Amino acid sequence: MAKLKIGVWLIGARGGVASTALVGLCALKKGLAGEAGLVSQLPEFRQLGLADWGDFVAAGHEIRCVRLVDEAMRMATDNRAIDPGLIAQCAEELDQIDRRVRLGTIHRVGPTIERLAAPEVPVGESPREAIRRLQADLSQFARHEGLEHVIVVNVASTEPPVDPTLLPRTWPELDRKLDLPDECPLPASSLYAIAALDLGFSYVNFTPSLGSAPEAIDDLARQRGSRHMGCDGKTGETLLKSVLAPMFRARGLGVMSWVGHNIFGNLDGKVLDDPANKKAKLASKDRLLAEILGYKPQTLISLEYVESLGDWKTAWDHVHFRGFLGTPMTLQFIWQGCDSLLAAPLVLDLVRFTELARQRGEVGRMPFLASFFKSPYGVSEHDFTRQFQMLEAWAGAGRAPHSTAEG
Ligand code: NAD
Repeated sequence: MAKLKIGVWLIGARGGVASTALVGLCALKKGLAGEAGLVSQLPEFRQLGLADWGDFVAAGHEIRCVRLVDEAMRMATDNRAIDPGLIAQCAEELDQIDRRVRLGTIHRVGPTIERLAAPEVPVGESPREAIRRLQADLSQFARHEGLEHVIVVNVASTEPPVDPTLLPRTWPELDRKLDLPDECPLPASSLYAIAALDLGFSYVNFTPSLGSAPEAIDDLARQRGSRHMGCDGKTGETLLKSVLAPMFRARGLGVMSWVGHNIFGNLDGKVLDDPANKKAKLASKDRLLAEILGYKPQTLISLEYVESLGDWKTAWDHVHFRGFLGTPMTLQFIWQGCDSLLAAPLVLDLVRFTELARQRGEVGRMPFLASFFKSPYGVSEHDFTRQFQMLEAWAGAGRAPHSTAEG
């Protein structure tokens, strides 16, 4: 019997995270990359029968008409973060993926993202028309490549937030709004989610954009037997918060204030320089402290675009806390990470775990993936260690029926 193939469809396919994940996938397929940074390669997940890297076929939607391999090469030339020789060894595969990339939608993405879009990107479609076009792209990909399933991962630019009071709670109510452009508040990230979930495909939202967060879209996923999770990958400063805040709580140390200044200079940073887009990111980064500590310390988070830093993000955090006899003390840390290289392996892990969830017949949200996200859908546990235990428990709960029988 032929090996089953699984599609990975990246929204924002030529961005920093996507192009790095695709270089990583090609390198892993060729045995050119190690296991560092990959959660799914940890010993506790080895017996799960996760799909092999070679089982995945990649493609995606984009709004910029640039060349994937050139964007990937910027991680070597501009950021000095990946060996250019490695990218050159993957260039042919990256070009193949690039030929499968289709034009996305910029429905309600706000002016800053609109300005990135090539003139070829359709405008004026109703939400329903956009969804049908996106679905045609996904179906054609699945058919042409002979895929068993497609996992759509949103790694596109962060959209401005949507007023939650405008969102209908059930799928039939939301469905009716798709024909009424003026009444439909959904941004592009949610149209991609609907397109995927309605076809029975999986959807993962790595960004703070609305995506599949609305109850009505979860309703759709359950009705169609598909699965989804988000939102906003937990890769750097917030990852540290979710590790350190439980320590302060467990020692009875009262956090009085937590200040975090972030500076970086990639395209994501440029988009987040727009206060409307930045609002979605700041809300996502600020949510977890009060949930972990049980009270809200004074917090201040800044996110500043400094072009010369490229993909190298520096976060400086100042934590002011009170110890025994009321004595104030301070923890400071500096985190310097290469944003796309922190995110890319998590995208690949999420795809593998999501595929296993599909094989296990799981439907709706995937709470066991909470440790990957700053704002995990439907999960109020933000302590990283406990979230990771949720993943381990899920992994131990059932053996995968290995879908890739070889013949
Ligand atoms: P990026 O700006 O390099 O890439 C985003 C890509 O999305 C661009 O190529 C852009 O053209 C494309 N795009 C924008 N709107 C689109 C649309 N409607 N349809 C299709 N394509 C669209 O950003 P990045 O650094 O790759 O980050 C991607 C996303 O992941 C951002 O939302 C970011 O906030 C989020 N994220 C990143 C990290 C990290 O890098 N460590 C962590 C958590 C979340």
